[in-house]
Amino acid sequence: MSPMFVPGPVDVAEDVLQAQARPILPHRSPEFEDIFHRAEAKARQLFYTQHRVFITASSGTGLQEAAVRNLAKEKVLACVNGAFGKRWAEVAETNGKKVTRLEAPWGQPITPEAVAQALQQEAYEIITVVHNETSVGLENPIQAIAAAVRAVSPNTLICVDAVSSLGGAKLEMDAWGLDMVLTSSQKCLALPPGLALGAVSDRAMEKAKTVPFRGWYFDFLRLEKHRLKDSTPATPAVSLVYALDYQLDRILAEGLENRFARHEAMAKRVRAWATARGFDLLAAEGYRSKTVTAIFNAHGIGAAEINDYLRPRDMRIANGYGPLKGKAFRIAHMGELQMHDIETLLAALDELLQSREIPTEG
Ligand SMILES: *Cc1c(COP(=O)(O)O)cnc(C)c1O
Repeated sequence: MSPMFVPGPVDVAEDVLQAQARPILPHRSPEFEDIFHRAEAKARQLFYTQHRVFITASSGTGLQEAAVRNLAKEKVLACVNGAFGKRWAEVAETNGKKVTRLEAPWGQPITPEAVAQALQQEAYEIITVVHNETSVGLENPIQAIAAAVRAVSPNTLICVDAVSSLGGAKLEMDAWGLDMVLTSSQKCLALPPGLALGAVSDRAMEKAKTVPFRGWYFDFLRLEKHRLKDSTPATPAVSLVYALDYQLDRILAEGLENRFARHEAMAKRVRAWATARGFDLLAAEGYRSKTVTAIFNAHGIGAAEINDYLRPRDMRIANGYGPLKGKAFRIAHMGELQMHDIETLLAALDELLQSREIPTEG
């Protein structure tokens, strides 16, 4: 397997791919319901929640939409400090919600102080915030933000996008008092694309009962009715659920704490490599992502030059996202990647720099 250092879709282990190849079971069968039941129970451990996890046939963005449709009649405070926070604000706006954007410059965190101030000025039903802003390689301080929300506006529901962090960086839904946390299969969980997982608190379920026009496909009340029967309202992605069930066993066998430590060690190694070679990191110190590092181009080197060099070596990294395309590049260190993969990548990048007579350290 040639490693891809891109923040999704990531490489999937061969045996996880193979787990999908089992014969298709009818979803309303006891055999499939058993698998679905197991997968959901294990998924709760990933979110550190005692509540429920909905498993939907969609990508993560589908659950961004579900959050705003189920949990807000009208007023949404959307935190935006990167492309995916911005997307969530747009998702809320295009679903007819009244959205106030709380912005921070890309590369700077959303602070609990700014959130507290916004909530003091006005009442909001929900706040949306991204845990790991993949576009800028930044981790927002979710625990502190959630504490600020609870202190100032206890009824505001806290919705968190953990698409590029869940299973790679710690996020404790219940202990931190979060109401909805969503993720996608194709990032830190290292599954094929096509599934989204959303954990929803009891008080969020109560709120959903009062919100009209929740839609059909992602209606939390309908999803819950079927979840209690170990199923989904519409046909689930049966093969992907096999892979999820199998991969969650692998993840829990590695151990969540070990997995977080592996991701963090790879992040530290990549950051140290970049700064030692005169590259600047996009995200502010203290808020750097554990799963993807965003680096400004320097020495005339960016994603295009790097990928030209890596392609014959069967590796690739990611370009900057949106407005940062061509200005920055991103090295993902998530999913199945191990430190030795990072060492292979960084050795190749050093060769590239040396070929251009750019100094490198040993
Ligand atoms: C990738 C990503 C998304 C979009 O997820 P899809 O599964 O492609 O819908 C949303 N938020 C973050 C933080 C992401 O990294």
